[in-house]
Amino acid sequence: MNDKLRKVILAEKDLPTSWYNIAADFKTPLPAPLNPLTKKPVGPADLAPLFPAECIKQEVSAERYIEIPEEVQDKLKLYRPVPLFRALELEKALDTPARIYYKYEGLSPSGSHKSNTAIAQAFYNKKEGTKRIATETGAGQWGSALCLAGALFGLEIKVYMVKVSYNQKPLRRLLMETWGGKVVASPSPDTEYGRAVLAKDPQCEGSLGMAISEAVADALQRDDTKYSLGSVLNHVILHQTIIGLETQKQLEICGEQADIVIACHGGGSNFGGFASPFIGEKLRSGARTRCIAIEPFSCPSLTKGKYAYDFGDTAGMTPIMMMHTLGHDYMPPGIHAGGLRYHGSAPLVSHMLKEGLIEARAVHQKESFDAAVLFAKTEGFLPAPESSHAIRGAIDEALQCQKAGEQKTIVFNLTGHGYFDMAAYEKYLNGRLEDHEYPAEAIAKSLAKLPAV
Ligand SMILES: *Cc1c(COP(=O)(O)O)cnc(C)c1O
Repeated sequence: MNDKLRKVILAEKDLPTSWYNIAADFKTPLPAPLNPLTKKPVGPADLAPLFPAECIKQEVSAERYIEIPEEVQDKLKLYRPVPLFRALELEKALDTPARIYYKYEGLSPSGSHKSNTAIAQAFYNKKEGTKRIATETGAGQWGSALCLAGALFGLEIKVYMVKVSYNQKPLRRLLMETWGGKVVASPSPDTEYGRAVLAKDPQCEGSLGMAISEAVADALQRDDTKYSLGSVLNHVILHQTIIGLETQKQLEICGEQADIVIACHGGGSNFGGFASPFIGEKLRSGARTRCIAIEPFSCPSLTKGKYAYDFGDTAGMTPIMMMHTLGHDYMPPGIHAGGLRYHGSAPLVSHMLKEGLIEARAVHQKESFDAAVLFAKTEGFLPAPESSHAIRGAIDEALQCQKAGEQKTIVFNLTGHGYFDMAAYEKYLNGRLEDHEYPAEAIAKSLAKLPAV
């Protein structure tokens, strides 16, 4: 390895041509999602009103490698492959013997890794005749990614944006509208569920689970419309494996073996997509890479949730999935500025944790912003608050290496930039950010409402 190297750039021709499906390598199979009424495993017919057939096929596929269609590769090349950076300046600031690398997904036009699956999902929808896609967005990155993908493939995109974030982030909304998306604050008057919530509580600030319910309801009430989810599902993680696959090629080029792989965790898609190829190597050839998911203390699904069947949304319209969950009507506190607010963890990632293939850790928001600011001062890029959780994790591991005098190779995923999140930075810089730990009683209360299986 070269100690002056600052980044590894792959050529367009080196873009991976297949995604990696970790389900092919699991020793025990993933528990099936169930129909909430019959409690029987959901079949393709249950999902057909919501998703294109190709995505449903991928959801249950046991093939190890799934080819990336030419048209998807072509659009991904707008920004991929993305560089793997060596964090030399951060290492110096930490005075650590560890070598730190990061994959920078903030170079996509939408600003995060979400474009990797938005492009694939928009392509399959277009190919199968969908005219319009309904979706939800929290912080706005997923909505942005899908609106851009809709513009690229000529699809109309309707976004239900969690109201609190709709009000706090008008610039995100304008970005989506610039790409042609139609954006409404959720709960909204546009669906029966939204109207019912508003009738009870006109001031309701919304939640990701509610916005999902609205988008699903929208897709179910129109024949020309499908639904699209930016995280959690197996096919989403499949599309995100392009991150880990590129990273593996880049590490090989610089003669490195990852000792520790770190990513932040909201619904689990970037962690799953980044870590899966490394975990696959562990499963097939006994590699010893540690994979660590970092989540916020205010939404601790992996570290404090229960591994149980639960709904993906608040109204209970989705299939029930086996996952680490805080309960489907869990509502994250308003003071939490760091994103990663989904109540559950992807079934794939939950399974990895259950099987002991990964570790999970929670961090507080102030220490995560401390890490973001140190990163910005040393490496320059301004991280999304979500991504900062991974930076915190990487810094903590690097400091551990310093104490132990160990020269480990740490690789983390920097999921996005934070240029639309300056309000959160403003709070941090002016000392108005408070730590918050989701109280155990509140978790117990929402867990009491898990569906009986
Ligand atoms: C959505 C998002 C996340 C969290 O979602 P996952 O599905 O857990 O990856 C993390 N970082 C950024 C920048 C995001 O937009």
